Amino acid sequence: MFRRFLMGRYGNDHLNLFIMLVSLVFGVATFFAYGIGDLIFSILQLMFLALWLMRAFSRNFYKRRAENMVFLRIWGRVKAFFRPVKGFFARLADRKHRYFKCPKCKSRLRVPRGRGKITITCPRCRNMFDKKS
Ligand SMILES: [Zn+2]
Repeated sequence: MFRRFLMGRYGNDHLNLFIMLVSLVFGVATFFAYGIGDLIFSILQLMFLALWLMRAFSRNFYKRRAENMVFLRIWGRVKAFFRPVKGFFARLADRKHRYFKCPKCKSRLRVPRGRGKITITCPRCRNMFDKKS
């Protein structure tokens, strides 16, 4: 019975996963909010939950897929925006290497940490410079 009900329904995609996550975040937020804030978060949670249900049980595959494509495009942009930030923290966490910028061509170079004074040759422009690693 239930399976037949689900037949021809759109189900879940990336956008719906995101909507569910947002709904959950608002749900958690209600635990920390009081009065009007609690109410607002509760309403938002229900709204996103309703949106999730509407999309999951929708029969309009074409429209849902188009929405998901738009979402993925925006998501890709958000990810691209935060990529340098991610790289910065990855370098900060890297205890085995030191990172330098070539003074000539500005390309980033990675050298092993703790070798004392070394002469680095830039692999891109062959520029040589001394650094402590
Ligand atoms: Zn260089």
